[in-house]
Amino acid sequence: MSKYDFKYLLQENGWLENVTVETDDNGIIKSINQLSSNSSENIGIPGFQNAHSHAFQYAMAGLAEYHPTTKSPDDFWSWRKSMYELALKIDPDQLEAIASMLYAEMVRHGYTHVAEFHYLHHDKKGKSFENIAEMGSRLIQAAKNAGINITLIPIFYQKGGFCKEATIEQRRFISNNIDAYMNLFEASKLLTLNKPHASIGFGIHSMRAVETENIIKVSNFRHDHIPFHIHVSEQIKEVEDSLHYLKARPVEWLSDNISLSKDYHLVHATHLVEKEINAIANSKANVVICPSTEGNLGDGIFPLRNYLSKNGNWSIGTDSHIGINPMEEIKLLDYGQRLTTNKRNTFSNLESGDSGFNALKTALQSGRKAMGNHHNSFFEIGKPLNAVVYSSEHPLLSSCSKKNLCNTLVFASDISMLKATIVNGNYIFNDGIHKNMGTIKHEFERALKVLEYR
Ligand SMILES: [Zn+2]
Repeated sequence: MSKYDFKYLLQENGWLENVTVETDDNGIIKSINQLSSNSSENIGIPGFQNAHSHAFQYAMAGLAEYHPTTKSPDDFWSWRKSMYELALKIDPDQLEAIASMLYAEMVRHGYTHVAEFHYLHHDKKGKSFENIAEMGSRLIQAAKNAGINITLIPIFYQKGGFCKEATIEQRRFISNNIDAYMNLFEASKLLTLNKPHASIGFGIHSMRAVETENIIKVSNFRHDHIPFHIHVSEQIKEVEDSLHYLKARPVEWLSDNISLSKDYHLVHATHLVEKEINAIANSKANVVICPSTEGNLGDGIFPLRNYLSKNGNWSIGTDSHIGINPMEEIKLLDYGQRLTTNKRNTFSNLESGDSGFNALKTALQSGRKAMGNHHNSFFEIGKPLNAVVYSSEHPLLSSCSKKNLCNTLVFASDISMLKATIVNGNYIFNDGIHKNMGTIKHEFERALKVLEYR
């Protein structure tokens, strides 16, 4: 049994004051009590949900910024070439080391859950490992090392593009047919059994990378709120190719051919037309927006303001991990809208004008769905305690009214205000220290040295 005191604790209906939360030995909340006063300086909000990650890409964060000095452009497709070079080098031990470091950094920034969109399946020659889900098992172990919850999404990656065979550089990603993918999925699912920190999801790399009949089959096979993730409409070229080969835009095709619902997570969905925006919002599906990566790759800006006018659901992800601060993701998302629409109230809605609260609430609730968790309450008896703790000692927070607290955290905080991250009832990060950082950092540096990558 453990006890946590908060000066303020954020619930789905607003702030509670002078709160004590008790958990059992498994980190499950047993009670939430409000007292007339307490001496705590802690401000608690729910742990962030990182709904889109490719862990191995953390090894190249910051390394793709030397651009050609000629006039030839550097874009998503040239970045992808560098990413493939890295993907071909990494062995299972190195993947575990890189992912452990990344996930520990996520915890330090307040994430308590990550959805890992995992497609680096095979050995360097493109052959299956003896355990076909070996690389997935390393990601689940990395999450354990780092003290974060993981939803492993083994990805179906079949082709090199619309009507294109996979290239030699893609050999580590490929499941040739639906049976190969389902075997991989089942082996990955087995890895999550009896592991409270792990769960499973279905994933299709993209419209261009899997035969459309197989996208439909995987969608039909999905059941029981297991989430379904897919990259979609990130690049204009992908939309043009889809129009050429399928006679429909990617989201248009998805909404016409599979039953989109609240279990579906469309990653990026950057380039949409009105009909597609309506289709996603009406189906209650979610978009996963990754503003720092989308900005870094020059993808484009998701039409959030329009989408929110239709009550669309969204969460955030850090994708290539060029940035891993959730508050920055939310701010970038908002500021992209402000800069392109000349309006400031991106997140306000008919119920509430509290921008910070509305953003935190949607990112949490859609983010949880990305993990297969459909609970809307922020903190609830019977559920694990996953929280980010800020210190009200900072002058902007110590002088802040409850009314402005969410907005101060979202729009005016920096990482130094984050005091602790509690995952499943344990302080994993506390007072500047991640409890396993020594070993994790050592293994990461060793792996990067062997890779001769940075
Ligand atoms: Zn991605």
